[in-house]
Amino acid sequence: HYPLSKSITLPNGKVYEQPTGLFINGEFVASQQHKTFEVINPSNEDEICHVYEARTEDVDAAVDAAYNAFHSEWSKMDPSIRGEHLMKLAELMEKNKDTLAAIESMDNGKALFMAEIDVKLVINYLKYCAGWADKLFGKVVDTGSNYFNYIKREPIGVCGQIIPWNFPLLMWSWKVGPALAAGNTIVLKTAESTPLSALYAAKLAKEAGIPDGVINIVSGFGKITGEAISTHPKIKKLAFTGSTATGKHIMKAAAESNLKKVTLELGGKSPNIVFNDADIKKAVNNLILGIFFNSGEVCCAGSRVFIQEGVYDQVLEEFKIAAEALKVGNPFEEGVFQGAQTSQQQLTKILGYVESGKDEGATLVTGGERLGDKGYFVKPTIFADVKPNMKIYSEEIFGPFAVVTKFKTADEAIAMANDSEYGLAAGIHTTSLDTATYVANNLEAGTVWINTYNDFHHNMPFGGFKQSGIGREMGEAAFENYTQWKTVRIAI
Ligand code: NAD
Repeated sequence: HYPLSKSITLPNGKVYEQPTGLFINGEFVASQQHKTFEVINPSNEDEICHVYEARTEDVDAAVDAAYNAFHSEWSKMDPSIRGEHLMKLAELMEKNKDTLAAIESMDNGKALFMAEIDVKLVINYLKYCAGWADKLFGKVVDTGSNYFNYIKREPIGVCGQIIPWNFPLLMWSWKVGPALAAGNTIVLKTAESTPLSALYAAKLAKEAGIPDGVINIVSGFGKITGEAISTHPKIKKLAFTGSTATGKHIMKAAAESNLKKVTLELGGKSPNIVFNDADIKKAVNNLILGIFFNSGEVCCAGSRVFIQEGVYDQVLEEFKIAAEALKVGNPFEEGVFQGAQTSQQQLTKILGYVESGKDEGATLVTGGERLGDKGYFVKPTIFADVKPNMKIYSEEIFGPFAVVTKFKTADEAIAMANDSEYGLAAGIHTTSLDTATYVANNLEAGTVWINTYNDFHHNMPFGGFKQSGIGREMGEAAFENYTQWKTVRIAI
């Protein structure tokens, strides 16, 4: 049988022990059918290791463990102790931050410095959730002197969580942090291409003293492991991040099985709008960050760029120059901004959209091709003269691929920006407060960035309008996903 832990040499030469089992009831275990699957380093296409694949019976075991942990201990303890556990986990992550970042970069393909940013965000967010654990207060409600009423927030129970491959550890923390702080227990499925950092984080959670069964990690594929989670009758809440198509499917499965409460963080095709009066240097920097950050594998990527006609030629030229100056390659190499796409499937998908853009008559400004023949690298790509009827204008590509369109007036920009099934985020670049607030108020987007982009803070909610999602993560809003109100009315 495949070992439950493997000694792996990271691309920076350091050696670490990678758990490969499923994490169920506080132990790394083999799956019951002993099936494993291969994990690939997308920068060189080498095998890193195998991990065990959870099937329905393994998900059942994980749910049983989470159910027992919920009822026996976790939901009943003094919430401040839950907070202490999360704080301890954040501290252990801090101690192991270099290893965590290196694992993430090796497994996902993202530039190492971006993985380091992710790990910092993870630590901050877990600390933030730790602080909330004992502050989820109820209220006394006055309805006249013949009654004493109180309302309180209670955890929901076992939560199923399904995460994607673009920010594996960050999505782990967005799911695990608030669920645990509020007293729930979890069964989390990682994405099949990036299971490693979540297993390593589970090992740290064990070291932090988080009781057995509170966190369960099941590596596996959507159609088997994911399906077993979304249809499980003992799971009371489902949180998902990924594509809109899978989100819709999951919501149906959740409804038909036992009407699980569902939160969804889905796709986007977010507009990033540059006005004539923008600080051009800053705006171009934000266009770059908007679409090339994390190799464009960002749900809120500023993938549709709108430039006002007075500065169109200048901004497009500077955007092109800046994109061509980005260093693409080995994520561990100094100065590399853009690493590899996460999988062969993503590489193929992106190159397919390049062909589609050319066929539909858009102008390829730069990029549009694979870089090298080993590893899933794509040149930063910009298409101009992109029209609303083109596929590249409306479909989520999830790569370093920007489409540029010219506009005349603010109202025209708003109409084009809102002409999408998605509504996750938007960017506005202007020095006019009037323009900024007018456009922000009229955009259908869960987050609007003004003179910045891809700029998160754990104290502010993040989530989608329209088909970009249901519910919010981060900020106080995250706890609404993981608590339910109980009303107690006492006649006196
Ligand atoms: P996906 O939505 O299929 O996968 C996301 C997660 O859902 C993974 O863990 C996957 O195993 C799981 N999953 C898949 N099918 C499932 C099912 N039937 N039941 C339960 N879980 C299931 O995304 P993908 O196929 O990896 O990527 C396809 C596209 O999705 C990307 O090109 C991109 O456009 C989009 N995407 C968006 C995000 C985001 O953060 N919004 C993240 C990843 C991918």
